Amino acid sequence: MKPIVIIGAGMAGFTVARELRKLDKETPLVLLTSDSGGFYSKPMLSNAFAQNKQAAQLVTQSAEQMAAQLNAEIRSTTPVDAIDTTKKTITIGEVALDYAKLVLAVGAQPIRLTIEGDGADQVMSVNHVADYARFRDLVALPKHGASARVTILGAGLIGCEFADDLSGAGHAVTLIDPSPLPLAALAAPALSRGLHAALTSRGIVLKLSTTASRIDRSGDSLQVSLADGSSFETDIVLSAVGLRPDLRLAQAAGLATGRGILIDANGQTSAPDVYAVGDCAEYTVDGNGGTRILPYIAPIMTAGRALARTLTGTPTAIELKDAPVIVKTPSYPIALVPPPLHAVAGGAWQSEEIGERTICRFYDAQGVMAGFCVAPQDAAIRASLLAAMGSPAPAQEASAA
Ligand SMILES: Cc1cc2nc3c(=O)[nH]c(=O)nc-3n(C[C@H](O)[C@H](O)[C@H](O)COP(=O)(O)OP(=O)(O)OC[C@H]3O[C@@H](n4cnc5c(N)ncnc54)[C@H](O)[C@@H]3O)c2cc1C
Repeated sequence: MKPIVIIGAGMAGFTVARELRKLDKETPLVLLTSDSGGFYSKPMLSNAFAQNKQAAQLVTQSAEQMAAQLNAEIRSTTPVDAIDTTKKTITIGEVALDYAKLVLAVGAQPIRLTIEGDGADQVMSVNHVADYARFRDLVALPKHGASARVTILGAGLIGCEFADDLSGAGHAVTLIDPSPLPLAALAAPALSRGLHAALTSRGIVLKLSTTASRIDRSGDSLQVSLADGSSFETDIVLSAVGLRPDLRLAQAAGLATGRGILIDANGQTSAPDVYAVGDCAEYTVDGNGGTRILPYIAPIMTAGRALARTLTGTPTAIELKDAPVIVKTPSYPIALVPPPLHAVAGGAWQSEEIGERTICRFYDAQGVMAGFCVAPQDAAIRASLLAAMGSPAPAQEASAA
């Protein structure tokens, strides 16, 4: 019997495998991954410093343990080179492997900025546990003492989380972003101002409305030059400017792609018996051809459950629901549901302050609530805001953000 093959052993690959095994314990299942194949929770990568967690502590199950748990074959450090959707094979070097059904769960790649200077090649990204291990080793070099100077490019969700985490662990953090406020692409200005104040009061230096134009080596340090003409020394530069779905295998195989690998309501790509899920996928989100990249855990859980049913013979639509993203900035805990891109034009944020709390609701051009952000967040306020999604703006609205 030909196996179900999953390429990728991140949250998406393992979620599909787990959900599949709840429905079908026998069909041969093979996972292939370029990495070590152990299970870890990727969101931990940006809040593990303050908890002094080593990379090995984040891997809760080895590839062997996962293989036993899933009754699957896991081929670690095995990058897949190509897919032939006509012959229904994948190739690893010279070796071909047949599949009955194939799931692409290959994730996303960090976006690399083009920066001048002989230190630009020192810029790191942390998108996998192995990157985190390298980053930790660098931060811990004796020459940095107890407090390394870390410069983070990008004050989006991941950049702000790393900044708060590293400063919580005693490091000296500088955060650079072209926007005038942190988290500007996801949150309302009123909330971004609150985050700015919280990060600043922690000692994080924010250099906003500018970008890094050069990084040069300077003895043991790096010299960062900004577009605004200023410059400063740092020990380490971490890039957190975003991720891009990994389309390399899909495009080489002739699958339809947009920003991600295009999938229909059931998670199928443009080729029969080939599916995609997770950070690499571009989900169909409505019956009008609307699509979205959703690089978060909650959609993976929903899609993984539906896909497992489809793979076991019951075609099942992926019914994505709004789920808040928790921004792991303990100095200013945020929950948010970002408005979908298509709702942004013509819409507006409305904000209100209730005591220490800032609540912002996004209303689209039709006056329907299509997103929110709140800080400090807690479960009750999250739930009430989630319940209000889709409701019309009240007649008497609070002040504009
Ligand atoms: C620092 C950080 C913090 C985050 N925090 C949160 C959070 O708090 N909440 C939230 O909802 N989301 C968070 N996210 C996003 C979330 O973690 C991701 O959406 C999710 O982990 C993506 O899982 P994935 O399996 O799609 O991709 P990945 O985890 O990237 O897995 C991709 C897999 O594909 C394999 N692969 C790729 N190409 C090949 C190939 N050719 N052959 C074989 N294998 C291949 C890789 O080795 C890997 O195993 C965070 C992301 C980061 C980086």
